[in-house]
Amino acid sequence: MIFGTRSSIRKKQDAGLPCPHCHAEHTLQFIVAQEYVIIAIFPFFPSSKRGMAVCSNCHFTFHPHQLPEPQRSSLYALTKQTRTPPWTFTLSIILLIMIVVGKCGDARQEKHTSQYVLDPRIGDVYTVKPYEREYTFYKVDSISSDSLYFLENRYSVESEKGLSQIERKGDDAFSAHRIAWPKKKMKAFITQGVILKIERE
Ligand SMILES: [Zn+2]
Repeated sequence: MIFGTRSSIRKKQDAGLPCPHCHAEHTLQFIVAQEYVIIAIFPFFPSSKRGMAVCSNCHFTFHPHQLPEPQRSSLYALTKQTRTPPWTFTLSIILLIMIVVGKCGDARQEKHTSQYVLDPRIGDVYTVKPYEREYTFYKVDSISSDSLYFLENRYSVESEKGLSQIERKGDDAFSAHRIAWPKKKMKAFITQGVILKIERE
């Protein structure tokens, strides 16, 4: 990631003062600049806001404390009044939206899992963690009055993130090897984190 800062001029106003350096008239302008942090080219969040006076004749820049009164106070006031534009938060807002959407998705998935476990159907795919550091998928193959019979996936991975690799292997990766789990244990398996997720087509 490439962090950086940029500056955007938010306000320009005649300073009403000859330039303290070259003494030219009507060349001194108050400028208020908003600085903001960027990642790549996207505004992330605003940082400081700066007021200064710039002469268009000699190009000297003056900080407020280098100006006489009442111009010094006017520049401070102008800086204070200048609003930070909302677009300086662009990336922060996008990230916030992504987090909220992600959380909603998680909540929906949890609701599905707790519903599907009560009403299992053939073809449901369970994301399971049968042992520590072992993640895989089980697919419901048949259902009896007291048990669920699963086809075990041939592959397992050490972390939840790796599951997408197994998913890519498709349906053929489910072996003919069947395992049975008692129905009455299912809710406990969710609580214990053995069943992580149930998906239905
Ligand atoms: Zn000047």
